[in-house]
Parts: sequence; structure tokens; C-alpha cells
Amino acid sequence: MKDLNIDLRSDTITIPTKEMLNYMFQAKVGDDVWEEDEVVKDLEAHLASMFDKEAALFCPSGTMTNQIAIRVHTKMGDEIICDKLSHIYNYEGGGVASNSGVSVRLVDGDLGRISLDQIKSNINPDDVHFPRTRLVCLENTVNKGGGACYDYNSMQDISHYCQNHNLTLHLDGARVFNALVAKSHSSHDYGKLFDSISICLSKGLGAPIGSVLVGNISFIKEAKRVRKSLGGGMRQVGYLAAAGQYALENHINRLEDDHKRARLIGETLIELHYIVNLRPIETNIVLFDVKADYVPRFKMTLETNDIKASFMGDRTVRFVTNLDFCDDQLELLLNTLKSLH
Ligand SMILES: *Cc1c(COP(=O)(O)O)cnc(C)c1O
Repeated sequence: MKDLNIDLRSDTITIPTKEMLNYMFQAKVGDDVWEEDEVVKDLEAHLASMFDKEAALFCPSGTMTNQIAIRVHTKMGDEIICDKLSHIYNYEGGGVASNSGVSVRLVDGDLGRISLDQIKSNINPDDVHFPRTRLVCLENTVNKGGGACYDYNSMQDISHYCQNHNLTLHLDGARVFNALVAKSHSSHDYGKLFDSISICLSKGLGAPIGSVLVGNISFIKEAKRVRKSLGGGMRQVGYLAAAGQYALENHINRLEDDHKRARLIGETLIELHYIVNLRPIETNIVLFDVKADYVPRFKMTLETNDIKASFMGDRTVRFVTNLDFCDDQLELLLNTLKSLH
């Protein structure tokens, strides 16, 4: 049994399982900057084929895979379209400006999901006054949108439009496997929609490090150049790629357990009079507000029971269910939440 300290701040906090560590120790590694690490090559080939893309690139973080994609897809002075809740805009240290020199056109979508109409109405005319609209970035699931997922049809409409209007389309798929599991979509169907996809192994999948960028051969060739310039070329990194391989083999289907526990948390929260504005729960993220006069007591109750959560603003709380959160902890959490009157 796990100890009952509950940490729901993020799905990045998980510790590699014993089985994952054993698998990592057995990796036959080489120098990946010299392209001699077969484990990295296997992981890249595996994800490329899962998403029906030609090639892939293993990177230290999802921030790096997103930033590399933006850099390769744009020229300085271009504009990208993304939602105002997007990770690319909010949480990547202003990298779109410092790495790529592009401007951002923010769209106010539905829990971070952009519609085709919003894209259409934010494309600049071909006129020297305006930055050239070059790239659209979607996020699926949307982190700051409480794990909201796109419908396949709306992504498909956006993709067709972008293909016909000379716009490149990137997916920030840090939690793309949560979306695939929740919506019963196939990873193969995503490849044809996007020019590039950034996939995190260190979120719900439970690897300690690692994100992979997938795209066509010429895109990944350029991406490798940019990764090097950002200091992201790594040496005997097959140990970490092995963790990713293990996660892909063993931790995808179990994401449904995280989703189920998130839904159960939601079923309790909806009954509690001090909770408002519970966002729809589609995946492993539970986002809600606490009534202002309950915030200090709510925080205190969590603290006394060794429960950690993320506070996003004064009264918005985020729980992210994850690999290290089990049913015993769920029960303790629900009882604790109900104990506050
Ligand atoms: C976590 C996350 C990333 C990447 O984060 P890193 O910590 O750099 O790996 C990118 N996009 C979204 C939506 C995320 O949630």
C-alpha cells in the first residue's frame, strides 16, 4: 500500500515504478548526439509509427518540443494563432518571442479549444501592415481548460482549412494520450491532421523525463538542428528513452483509471455547497473554484490531511489524478472534502 500523503498538484510529480527503473537499467545505450543510441532511435521510430509520421525527435521537455516546432515552422516576424489558455503562451517563459521572434494572436476559445471560425477571423490579410499568419497551435487536452478534449471532427475541419490556406498546424499534445483514451480516438488518425505533434512521456504516462516531437523527415531534420542549438542534444540518454518505451507499453490503458478517479472526485465536489464552477471532467484534471469565504478553511483542511493541490489564482483549485494516486487515497480525499462544512 502507498503512503497516504496525497499529491494532486500535477501528473508530473510521479516517481518511476520499480518495473520502469529495472527496464531503464537494462538499456543498451550509446551517444545520441552521434546517433548511436539504439534505444532512443527505437522510441522515436515507435512514436512516429504510432502517429503515422515519418520521423521523431526525443527531447528533454515538452516546452522544448513546442519551442522547436514553432521555431522550425515560422520565420521571425510571423504570427501564430493559439488560445489564451495555451501552455505555449502562458507557461513557456516567453520562448515564442525569445526563441522565434514571432507574435502571438490570442483566441478566446471554449475551455482552451479554438473553433475554425475563430481561426478564420484571426488570419491577417496579405498586406505589409500585418504580421504574416503562419502557424496555428492547438492543445489537446487543454491543461488550463481542465483537461478539455477536442472532438475529432472539429480538429479535422481545422486541419483541412489550414492545409488549403497555407497555414501550418501544430498540436501541443503534452496529454494527447489522455485525449486518445477519453475519446477512443486512434493515434494513427492524428498524424494526418497535424504537421507536428509534441508528446510528453512525463505527464500521465509516468516517465521521469522526456517529450517527443513527430513530423515529416525534413521537419525533424531541422528540428534536430534547433534542438542542438538550444542545448538539447543528449548523450547516453537511452536510459530515459527506455522509461518512455516502458510507459508506452504499460501506462497508456491505465489512464482510464486516472479519468475514473477524476470523475469520482467530481461527483463528490458537485454535492458540496462551498464548491462552485466545477469544469466538465473529461480526463485526469479536476478544476473548480472554492467560495471566497471558504478558501482559508479549505486550504487548512487540505494541509492538515497532507493533501497537496495546485492553486491557480485566488480560489481556483486544480487536482490532477496520476499514477501515484490510488483508491485508498481517493477515499481519504473524498472523506476530507466532505468533512468541511
Ligand atoms: C506540461 C505541459 C507542457 C510541457 O511541459 P514541460 O514541463 O516543459 O515538459 C506543454 N504543454 C502542456 C499543455 C503541458 O501541460
